[in-house]
Amino acid sequence: MNKNEILRQLPKVDHLLQKPETEELCRLYGKDRILGILREELDNLRNELLAGKTAEHTQQTEVFISRLLRQTVERTKALEEPSYRRVFNATGILLHTNLGRAPLGKHQMEAAIQSMRGFSNLEYSLSEGKRGKRQAHYADVICQITGAEAAVAVNNNAAAVTLILAAMAHKKEVIVSRGELIEIGGHFRIPEVMEQSGAVLRETGCTNRTRISDYEHAATEETAAFLKVHTSNYKIVGFTEETSVDELSALGKRYGIPVIVDLGSGVLVNLEKYRLVHEPTVGEILQKGADVVCFSGDKLLGGPQAGIIVGKKEYIQKIEQHPLMRALRLDKCTTAVLEATFREYFHEEQAWENIPVLKMIARTKEELLDQAEEISRELNSCSCSGKIEVTESSAVIGGGSLPGEIMPDYAIEISPEKETAQQLADRLRLCSVPIVSHIKNDRVLLQMRTVSEGEKREFAEVLREALCKK
Ligand SMILES: *Cc1c(COP(=O)(O)O)cnc(C)c1O
Repeated sequence: MNKNEILRQLPKVDHLLQKPETEELCRLYGKDRILGILREELDNLRNELLAGKTAEHTQQTEVFISRLLRQTVERTKALEEPSYRRVFNATGILLHTNLGRAPLGKHQMEAAIQSMRGFSNLEYSLSEGKRGKRQAHYADVICQITGAEAAVAVNNNAAAVTLILAAMAHKKEVIVSRGELIEIGGHFRIPEVMEQSGAVLRETGCTNRTRISDYEHAATEETAAFLKVHTSNYKIVGFTEETSVDELSALGKRYGIPVIVDLGSGVLVNLEKYRLVHEPTVGEILQKGADVVCFSGDKLLGGPQAGIIVGKKEYIQKIEQHPLMRALRLDKCTTAVLEATFREYFHEEQAWENIPVLKMIARTKEELLDQAEEISRELNSCSCSGKIEVTESSAVIGGGSLPGEIMPDYAIEISPEKETAQQLADRLRLCSVPIVSHIKNDRVLLQMRTVSEGEKREFAEVLREALCKK
């Protein structure tokens, strides 16, 4: 058959509409909606046929009709189910950008619910009975915790960098080391962000080495700021040299040029405590003399998606007054969660306990081993298909934070019996609560560090349903 003959085999929409299956769907969802879906499916099929993607033997009207009806039923069924769902993260990547980065703790979630339940004092001063500022809810707390003079928050850290540059360096030059012209992923590239904000990028130094004299030579009348970008998702090793924030701030003071630091993942606690590399905290960077510092809300801070900007009052005021601020500001839910997140840090011990990302970092090898053994024992006791073992592995922070740093972990390793590891992993993603795993050496690995104590029971239950013979 040639293409035209094949296309002639396609059923007409009217014919499909008269089928009992579609009549039922029209009654439930309305004729227009079903007609729209049928037309889309018919178009998809037509394009597939034109591209030669459908096999010879399936090219008959009856086959087409049953396929179109099946797909239409599936699509209408999907209309009833939420697309956005909770999942189990068994990947061992703590801050998984595709899995929503930082999960929230009890107090953070309570704050979220409170903010959405009814009306609130989002922009209303209860003491004065008149209009207030939404920043008021979190700015003081952030200043208390970081030691900053002033603070403001926006939609995410990418927005924070854009806004800072737009407010402080429009049509002027910003000096950045060639070793820090980073791409974070998802189209966040420093040179492009710079262009969008209207600032002019002035590169200095070399990829592996940038000295203080490089910044000094690059500075001119046109310089609006020095920008340091934390290389949060890669490492430059070997013959390297980086200018410290102290040195750069001293230079900035001499020339009257402000120093901006994009810290990426804002850490407020000492990570060395859990044998990780020391990540400079926001407070330390400010103490070293940085004028403006920005960082993400949902990386190591463990809060909501946000970009937090802290620093000298004169610059924060300028940033708050920029017209872009209105477009990038936080909504009420994020405002509430951000405040609750910083409040946890008033007592560091409380933060390690209540902020899930920190809690995951703090879990000991023994706890993780116990959890892995408990779950695997349970699976082995119910005649599961495949071989289930506990194995030593490692977890990472992820989300473009602490590249190269690993944390010890244990994993439940499954060698499936009647299917490939990929087929099992696919099946796990279709569970009542989807399980996202990873595959190594033809085995499915379920890492324990990212499955919390609170999720453990349900996780085991869902796994059992997927693995155990009825
Ligand atoms: C992650 C990161 C960003 C982007 O932050 P988002 O909150 O994801 O927008 C910007 N700069 C650095 C250095 C980062 O690590």
